[in-house]
Amino acid sequence: MSFSNKQENSQDLTEGNKRGKNKKQFLIISFVGLMIFSLFIFKNQLRASFDKAEKSEEALAETISQEPKIPEIRQELIAIETGDTFSLLLQEKSDLEPGTISAIYESAFDVYDLAQIKAGKKIELIYGYADNELKELVYKINNEEELVVSQTEDQGYKAILRPIPYETTIVTKRGKISSSLYQAALDQAIDERAVIALADAFQWTIDFAMDPREDDTFAFIYEERYLEGEYVMPGEVKAAKYVNQGTPYYVFYFSENEDNTGFFDEKGNSVQKMFLKAPVAFKYISSTFTTGLRYVEKFNVSTGHRAIDYAAPLGTPIRAVGDGTVTLAGWNGSYGNMVSVRHNGTYSTNYGHMSKLAVKRGEKVKQGDIIGYVGSTGFSTGPHLHYEMVKNGVKINPLTEILPPGEALKGESLERFKAEISSWQAELDQ
Ligand SMILES: [Zn+2]
Repeated sequence: MSFSNKQENSQDLTEGNKRGKNKKQFLIISFVGLMIFSLFIFKNQLRASFDKAEKSEEALAETISQEPKIPEIRQELIAIETGDTFSLLLQEKSDLEPGTISAIYESAFDVYDLAQIKAGKKIELIYGYADNELKELVYKINNEEELVVSQTEDQGYKAILRPIPYETTIVTKRGKISSSLYQAALDQAIDERAVIALADAFQWTIDFAMDPREDDTFAFIYEERYLEGEYVMPGEVKAAKYVNQGTPYYVFYFSENEDNTGFFDEKGNSVQKMFLKAPVAFKYISSTFTTGLRYVEKFNVSTGHRAIDYAAPLGTPIRAVGDGTVTLAGWNGSYGNMVSVRHNGTYSTNYGHMSKLAVKRGEKVKQGDIIGYVGSTGFSTGPHLHYEMVKNGVKINPLTEILPPGEALKGESLERFKAEISSWQAELDQ
């Protein structure tokens, strides 16, 4: 990269770039001094000095381009679920102010009505890393076209429709757990976002904080997306297998029809269940949870600890494991700040020691909604989540509770599913 390009690109001067500029000025002054000196003393070697000067200019540009880069953007993906509306969804799940949300909605209206967003799709938000302002919202309308709402120079928003120009390739990655899924994936140079997508596909099946053991293995097949030959991001997870303590679990991405698309197990049962396996999402704990290395107190009837403790950093978001109504959100003695969610006539869940609550009593919550943040309030010696599941009034172990399987594919759909997954499964089992 030439130096003039570099200057054009650095609109927001980072500290590093400022230092680079000062350094450059200093070097230029030194260089000019050197030239005068050269002229005076070594007049006959002038030509050679020029060559040398050019080289040092090149070296300088090289040095500057090697300085560490501060990330320019931060990306957030918000999943749309049945019943979600654009404004409420963003108010709940993003950092955006209501004013910004309505500005986006209005700017997009002539191009695409965001009231039409569909469950099962995602809204991608791209924030400036430094100012935390929304730079771009991308909503994939279908596989060919996406809505792009971008921030304008006067802090407004403008919207366009554009074709998605990805080139995709399908890759298979495999690994073996020694300390954690996250570490195993990084060891295989797998994109962190792909690992999170893998864990998300198993979020109803495996608790990645509690279940993984040394020598567990995984294999997964997913898309890699490229734009103009450059790797951009992982695409959909097509299929995955995780062998946990000798038991294989599979997920296959399949679209029965527009309304029924998602992950199914090898028998064609939807993997989506009434409860998520864990109240903390893998993406927040990925790098901190390792097999057996962190203290987590388990469900233990003999000690009277009828709960699971998730050690997690202060402020880690806590999610409702299932749909329900908040029946308690406040201080509750030794539990400290606590949230209770009633899921139906049979089940409820409790979440204790929170640093901060994110819901109020009486509020309806959906599976995966953030209800509070990890803390150490009440009778607690360090930041952790105390998580209880109650069934018909009795505290039970959520990790061993067997829930009804998800809805099964039938008839022609099941036949099509089996035909579609057979090669994937063979690849995973290799
Ligand atoms: Zn506990």
